[in-house]
Amino acid sequence: MTKRTTHWTSGRPTPGTGARTSPVYNPATGELIAETELAGPAEVDAAVADAVRAARRWRESSLSRRAAVLFRFRELLSAHTEDLAEVITAEHGKVLDDAVGEVRRGLENIEFATGVPHLLKGSYSAQASTGVDVHSLRQPLGVVAGITPFNFPAMVPLWMCGNAIACGNAFVLKPSEKVPSAALLLAELWQEAGLPDGVFNVVQGDRVAVDALLAHPDVAAVSFVGSTPVARHVYETGTARGKRVQALGGAKNHAVVLPDADLDLAADAVVSAAYGAAGERCMALSVTVAVGSVADDLVAAIAARLPGLSVGDGAKPGTDMGPLISREHRDRVAGYVAAGAAQGATVVVDGREAEVPGDGFFLGTTLLDHVTPEMTVYTDEIFGPVLSVVRVDTFDEALALINANRYANGTAIFTRDGGAARRFQNEVEVGMVGVNVPIPVPVGYYSFGGWKASLFGDTHMYGPEGISFYTRGKVVTSRWPDPAASPSGIDLGFPQTR
Ligand code: NAD
Repeated sequence: MTKRTTHWTSGRPTPGTGARTSPVYNPATGELIAETELAGPAEVDAAVADAVRAARRWRESSLSRRAAVLFRFRELLSAHTEDLAEVITAEHGKVLDDAVGEVRRGLENIEFATGVPHLLKGSYSAQASTGVDVHSLRQPLGVVAGITPFNFPAMVPLWMCGNAIACGNAFVLKPSEKVPSAALLLAELWQEAGLPDGVFNVVQGDRVAVDALLAHPDVAAVSFVGSTPVARHVYETGTARGKRVQALGGAKNHAVVLPDADLDLAADAVVSAAYGAAGERCMALSVTVAVGSVADDLVAAIAARLPGLSVGDGAKPGTDMGPLISREHRDRVAGYVAAGAAQGATVVVDGREAEVPGDGFFLGTTLLDHVTPEMTVYTDEIFGPVLSVVRVDTFDEALALINANRYANGTAIFTRDGGAARRFQNEVEVGMVGVNVPIPVPVGYYSFGGWKASLFGDTHMYGPEGISFYTRGKVVTSRWPDPAASPSGIDLGFPQTR
């Protein structure tokens, strides 16, 4: 019998109604490995009601208790990294090392959240006016929801839940229905860490569950990560209902390679960023902008590296690149390669011709040269192992190209010229910038977020901005009667002189 993936509420796995389910595949074999529940509005209501009750108690727990739970969760997460990685690889397809890397990056966010006693410190101004003091504090929102994409089944939930819970909220996670199991393992670890029941919940589902969360009056805030059209929908619907929303969308990340760059370093970085996780990363490199004389050598250096990448089952040692998430997505990506060729790009390496194993959803690596901004391989987020090279003559043209793009998640420049790098980081209109670094995913004590169509809302995710997102500020202005003139006549023991 096919495994049935459950929800998680009240501190335990909760079977769904079974009214609607969705298949979960191992993308490396094409095999059906589970059916996941798809929650309807009644199941979402029940999970949120549970979270409301838990949030009332959890917000009263001391900062040291919260920090203790987070420290234990950090240790458990670290100890179970391999278990989580196996679950991720089985449902997503990425290679095991990459899945381990994803958990480790998520761990950084939990380490950050362990500092909650410090992070929630307010400020204090004594004697703002005579006898008047002012202080500020940050308080939790109540119930907050996280809606996450298929490509990081553990890391993206960890971007959200550590900070949300540390701040005293209850968290309802709605993972991607394509990769439902990592969320349940996270739930078990939270429980083992001593988190009270109902503070971390998982509602499996699709757009029906998302819309129910967006409509629910007791969901105070929504953190979303996924594609741009859905991010826009979540942002517009959630904010129209008075919720706080941060919605991170798609990407089309460019790396500029200047003629003075270290060519080997740039080619290695470009290959790893373009083809790692089969290009299914929001920080994947999709476009390399080759400036001036570097183009021929750069294309040759990238092409020379591709035969060395082994494509196969991510669970098997020695594999560099796994399959895509689904058969339909694989075919869609292959369609972009065909469109690029038809629209005039030079197909240097064609992933459709690669020898790939068995029945999985595999596609080899593709390298397209002489891509121009009108081609669909340039305009669209492909989310697959396809790298386009756009050739330009100058640094200014490269900068203008990036700044004209509707997406603005991450970018990078490869150069030895400090002046060029400095100008790039100042003038590029993108949220996360790398200098001789291919995937500039900020460390956990900074915040993650793109600009333009890559993020709707004004708060980036995790780090300091995450703390701000999951709390409301309050400012208290207080004046107390002169103790010397206390109407109660009680001797407060204050000095009587001024
Ligand atoms: P997706 O937008 O299809 O799904 C994301 C979430 O939204 C899932 O939980 C899904 O169930 C739900 N959803 C899907 N369609 C919906 C609809 N019509 N209404 C309401 N909810 C809906 O994204 P995906 O395919 O899972 O993930 C890939 C996308 O996510 C890419 O575009 C990628 O760039 C983006 N992404 C962005 C970041 C970032 O930080 N900016 C990080 C990871 C992924």
